[in-house]
Amino acid sequence: MRSLTPPSLSARAVYRTCISKALPRHKQRLDALEQAVVDAADKFEAAASAAALHTLKDLAAKPVDAADRAQLTNTYTNRFVPDGAPGNLLYNALKKVRHKICPLCGHRDVSTLDHQLPKMKYPLLAVVPINLVPACGICNGLKGERVPETVAEQTLHPYYDDVADEQWLHAGLKWTESRPPEITYSIRPPEGADTVLAARVIRHFQIFSLAELYGPNAVREMSNIRGILKFLNAGTRHKYLLLAENSVLIDKDAGGQNHWKRALFQTLARDSRYLEGGFDQF
Ligand SMILES: [Zn+2]
Repeated sequence: MRSLTPPSLSARAVYRTCISKALPRHKQRLDALEQAVVDAADKFEAAASAAALHTLKDLAAKPVDAADRAQLTNTYTNRFVPDGAPGNLLYNALKKVRHKICPLCGHRDVSTLDHQLPKMKYPLLAVVPINLVPACGICNGLKGERVPETVAEQTLHPYYDDVADEQWLHAGLKWTESRPPEITYSIRPPEGADTVLAARVIRHFQIFSLAELYGPNAVREMSNIRGILKFLNAGTRHKYLLLAENSVLIDKDAGGQNHWKRALFQTLARDSRYLEGGFDQF
């Protein structure tokens, strides 16, 4: 749920670099596809800017020829990703992101590039930079070959969607008599939020299983701060948690409003049962 600055590399430059050392028998075919790749990148940019990637279905049918499609996907797999491949420096440049944090989950380390529209279904977009998002392996796997069928099914695209200025992510602390207290995460769209964007944020949260990721991490964090809170009284605990929340909030690049720690500290600071001793149960 974090935004990133879109890459400045052009689709043509990346494509040409990748195919520069292709065997002559493949090179001719790949050269002939160059303009189609550039045109597809332009279409992708227009659609992504308008949150309309679900309208690009006609692009999936191109090119028709199976050998062309295979050469395009091979270009990603063999000419772009491997160490020493002609496009590898560009691949590594696209993977670079602050603190190595995956923008899709905002938590795990980047280890790959995720195709916003999958390369097997959209081979013309296989090495188009704006279709390639730095991601952790788990987010990459969770999204898989999904293609949005409707406007609401589009997960957030870090180069085009920015929800960091408002709080969407919230944490809840539930006390039960019979079981240990539970911390849960959910999306609550801010007041006046666009309904399509709200549906997309919820979709993103579900596809990437963010509640399941943040919950256990929150419990570990609560366990980490228990030792500090023990030495404070309830009022000072409240202040400590507000400070902790603020230290997350001020760093927009690190997730700001929608970092799971921000939502956690915010909820804990408001929970009198937690402040008055409940913290010791974590
Ligand atoms: Zn991730």
